[in-house]
Amino acid sequence: SAKRNNRGNVALHNQDIQNAHLNKIALRDKLRAAIKQKLLNVYYQPIIEQNSGRIVKFEALVRWFDDQQGMISPGAFIPIAEEFGFIHQIGQFVLERACLDLRHMHDLGFTDVSVSVNRSVNEFKVSNNQFDLISKAVEQAGVPYESLTVEVTESMATNRYTWELLKDLRDKGVEIALDDFCTGYSSLSHIIDNQVDYLKIDKSFVDSLMQDKNKQIMISCLVSMAQQLGIKVIAEGVESQVQLQMLAELGCDHIQGYYYSPARPLNACIKLLEEFNARGESTILAEIKQR
Ligand code: C2E
Ligand code: MG
Ligand code: MG
Ligand code: MG
Repeated sequence: SAKRNNRGNVALHNQDIQNAHLNKIALRDKLRAAIKQKLLNVYYQPIIEQNSGRIVKFEALVRWFDDQQGMISPGAFIPIAEEFGFIHQIGQFVLERACLDLRHMHDLGFTDVSVSVNRSVNEFKVSNNQFDLISKAVEQAGVPYESLTVEVTESMATNRYTWELLKDLRDKGVEIALDDFCTGYSSLSHIIDNQVDYLKIDKSFVDSLMQDKNKQIMISCLVSMAQQLGIKVIAEGVESQVQLQMLAELGCDHIQGYYYSPARPLNACIKLLEEFNARGESTILAEIKQR
């Protein structure tokens, strides 16, 4: 009967919630163990300046390869890390690794390359000493403050303390990127107030750009505004030649995406640098255009 069906549905629904909860707890325990056993790693994805054809920056992205499950995506475990208080350990590990790896690239002669790290909102709580943690990592690695970028998301933009802290870091020379820009709630105030150095247009927006004339107008205006304010615009998740072409027409000069490369281990990135930054620019660009 209807009643029984209803009860059945409710029971099923509760079961789902319970399963989800158990999965989460299992992932939490697995993550805790992985951190302890130092199973996390950092990969880097290049950001290419179209104008010069050079890699100007690498975004550091945390990687977790599990024996049974294979790669577990940060999209799945970063929220768990945030909820259960592991994000500080992960964030600090990625930051320190990224600064040391950058130092290695600089030592190899690629001194104009910089690195970008993601920070979660939880990491910016007053008690966390973010300023000290970040400056310590930079100084221990012996890289210039100017070659570190900190990526924060728009949703963090509502927290005033965060912006005071970011300002202190910026005064030191660290650059700030507004990540996942154009997703959901967007505010121009941090751009107008000149508080950021980069805007990163989210992949979802880049994907919808082709079919949406209004979005193209928006990007074109955003790029022009950003340019006049000395802010650089990075398009994320660029996968195709058509997207690249469109973004070039809209004036967006910095490209990150599988079209060029996914995130890779340090050694593979050094090979990319040798390819992109040491050889003649025009050869590389011509090569890519032929792909
Ligand atoms: P994000 O900061 O927006 O990073 C960009 C994401 O887009 C990365 O996913 C990257 O691999 C992916 N991506 C780049 N180009 C393409 C493309 O052409 N196609 C597709 N399909 N994807 C592309 P990833 O590495 O899975 O990271 C997901 C999110 O997890 C990141 O988004 C960031 O929010 C978070 N995350 C990653 N590493 C860290 C970290 O060390 N700390 C913190 N707090 N968050 C991190
Ligand atoms: Mg990011
Ligand atoms: Mg992003
Ligand atoms: Mg994103």
